[in-house]
Amino acid sequence: MVRSLAQWTKTLSFPARISPNKSSKESVNIHQVSPTITPTLSNNSLSKNNEINTMMNNNHSSLTEVNQIYSDPESEKAIMSSVVYCIHHKAGCKWSDELRKLKGHLNTCKHDAIPCTSKCGAQIPRVLMEDHLKYTCPQRRTRCEFCNKEFTGHSLENHVGNCGYEPLYCENKCGVKVHRRHLSQHKIGDCSKRLLPCRYCTKEFVADTLAAHHIKCGRVPIQCPNRCDVNVLAREELETHLKEECTVSVHSCSFKEAGCRFKGPRYAMEKHLEENCQQHLTLMCNMVSKQQHQISSLKSALSRLSLNYSGTLIWKISDFSAKMAEAKNKEGMELIMSYSLVNNRHPLFPNGNGAGEDSHISVYIKILPGEYDALLRWPFAHSVSFTLFDQSTCPEKACNIVESFIPDPTWKNFQRPSREPDSLGFGFPKFVSHEMLKKRHFMKDDTMFIRVKVDPSKIVAV
Ligand SMILES: [Zn+2]
Ligand SMILES: [Zn+2]
Ligand SMILES: [Zn+2]
Ligand SMILES: [Zn+2]
Ligand SMILES: [Zn+2]
Ligand SMILES: [Zn+2]
Ligand SMILES: [Zn+2]
Repeated sequence: MVRSLAQWTKTLSFPARISPNKSSKESVNIHQVSPTITPTLSNNSLSKNNEINTMMNNNHSSLTEVNQIYSDPESEKAIMSSVVYCIHHKAGCKWSDELRKLKGHLNTCKHDAIPCTSKCGAQIPRVLMEDHLKYTCPQRRTRCEFCNKEFTGHSLENHVGNCGYEPLYCENKCGVKVHRRHLSQHKIGDCSKRLLPCRYCTKEFVADTLAAHHIKCGRVPIQCPNRCDVNVLAREELETHLKEECTVSVHSCSFKEAGCRFKGPRYAMEKHLEENCQQHLTLMCNMVSKQQHQISSLKSALSRLSLNYSGTLIWKISDFSAKMAEAKNKEGMELIMSYSLVNNRHPLFPNGNGAGEDSHISVYIKILPGEYDALLRWPFAHSVSFTLFDQSTCPEKACNIVESFIPDPTWKNFQRPSREPDSLGFGFPKFVSHEMLKKRHFMKDDTMFIRVKVDPSKIVAV
C-alpha cells in the first residue's frame, strides 16, 4: 500500500547532527517545514528547500518521488543520507536512521497509524490493526455468540442487549434462565414467582404459594356432605349451612334431654315440633318431677352429711324395692353417698356387682380427690366398716351384719388420688345376700340403714 507523505511529514524531525558534512548551500533544515505551504510538484523552479517542503507536504507525493525532484544526484544523495528520527519519535519510537530508510521503517514501525483495512475510516496503529479488525472495527464481520447470526461490528453493538437468544435470569428471582425473546412470556405464564389472583377469592398470591392457599381458601367451592339440593357452596359457609340451611343434615329434637328420641333434617324438625307439642310437654313434666325428687333427696343427704364430723355415717336407703327394681333393669346402677370429710364415696349396688351380681347388695369405698388432700395423710390407712342394721323393735334381739377392712397401704387405690375420674373402689361385692335381706328386720317400711364408719384418727398429717 502506498502511504501519503503528509501523514508522517508533519512530525518528521531531524536530529541536530543532521548533515554535518554537507556544505551550507546544500544543507536542509527540515525543521522549517510548514504545513501551510502547498506548492505543486511540477514546479521545478522552486529552491531546493522548497522542493523538500513540497515533498513533505503534498498529499500525492511519495518518498520515491524525491528521486525525481533532485536533478542533482549529489544533493539527492546528501538529503537521503540525512539522519532523521522516525516520524513517531514523539509517540515513543526510538528509531533513528538515514532518511532513505524511513519508508522501510514505517512499514514496520509499531507507532505508524494506517487507515483501517476494512475502510471504516479510522487510523489504526499497525500493531493494533489485527485487534481492531477482530474486535473493534465497525466494519468487522462477527457473529453473535447467542444467536450465531453474522453482523458487522457496528450493527452488533445495536444487537448486543437485544438478542432474543441471550439467556437471562428472570427478574422475579425464580431462579430460571430463559432466552430474552421468551422472557416476557415466562413472566406472564410460567414464572413461579409471578403474582396470580386466587380464582376463588381473587386475592393475589405468588404463583408457587397458590396451591397452599387453595387448601385453606374459604371461597373454594365444595359440595354439601349431606348431598342436599344446594349444589355448591363456599367452604367458609359450610358450617352455617349445616347448622341453619341444610335440608338433609340430621339434628336431635331439642327435647332430647327430656327423653324425645326424634332425629331428622331441619325441615322435618319444624313439623315434628309442631305435631308433638303434647308429648314434649309430658316429657318435660316427667323430667321436672324427677328432678324435684332428686333435689329433695340431695337436700336431705346434704343435711345429713353436714351433721357428721365423726367419721361415721348412717345411710338411710328408702324406697329400696323401687331402687332394687330399677337396678335389675339398669346394669351397674349404684346408689352413691359422698362423705366429704375424708373424700370418700360409698357406692352401693342394690342388685350386686361383680361376684355379688343378681344375688347380693354390694358396698364399696372409693377415694376421690378433694380440696384438702395436701393436708391429709397418704396412703389412706383408716379401717372402714359397713354395718347393716337389724331394725328389730327389741334391741337385744337385733343382729347387725358388719363387714370391715383395713386398707392395704400398697394398693394403688389408697394412694393420694389424682384428678382422674373413678378409680376402683374397694369393698364387699357380697355384702348381704338378697335372701338375707328378707330375713330378720333389715328392711322396715322398705327402708334400710347402713352405717359406714371410717376410723377418723390420724387423718390429718400435720
Ligand atoms: Zn517508528
Ligand atoms: Zn476499521
Ligand atoms: Zn444474537
Ligand atoms: Zn421467573
Ligand atoms: Zn383464595
Ligand atoms: Zn346441605
Ligand atoms: Zn321431639
